[in-house]
Amino acid sequence: MDCIFCKILNNEIPCNKLAENDHAIAFLDIMPVSKGHFLVVSKKHYEFAEETPAELIGEMMKLAVPLAAAAKKSLKCSGINFLINSGKRAGQVVPHIHLHVIPRYDDDNIHWPWPAGKLDKEDSEFLITSIKNAL
Ligand code: AMP
Ligand code: ZN
Repeated sequence: MDCIFCKILNNEIPCNKLAENDHAIAFLDIMPVSKGHFLVVSKKHYEFAEETPAELIGEMMKLAVPLAAAAKKSLKCSGINFLINSGKRAGQVVPHIHLHVIPRYDDDNIHWPWPAGKLDKEDSEFLITSIKNAL
């Protein structure tokens, strides 16, 4: 399969590895958004987060959380974004599930466009019914 993260997992191309467990590997992002930005990549190829077994995402988080704590301690960042882009519209470029761990610094000038909008009662009823009915 022509997937760059599968190639890293198969040792066909190198990475800057931080750690791994039985289910995931963590390595530094090659085009970091901030100092210390790393990725936690599932060892099994799934494209979208919402199609990935929740237990596997749990294993990814098990690897991510202590590394994030260590990054916070060592790099002295003041916050961390844990982010999964799922689907092109959401900014996913590599179609193999991965969690971004992005250390944040007071002067990093990164802005996310939220909070935004306003939830009204009609919408909230519709949304809750739609999502629950599709479970
Ligand atoms: P996404 O937009 O969520 O699919 O993010 C893909 C991420 O993978 C980007 O932040 C890239 O910088 C990163 N990336 C792509 N190729 C490599 C690579 N060979 N080694 C490390 N990170 C990579
Ligand atoms: Zn893959």
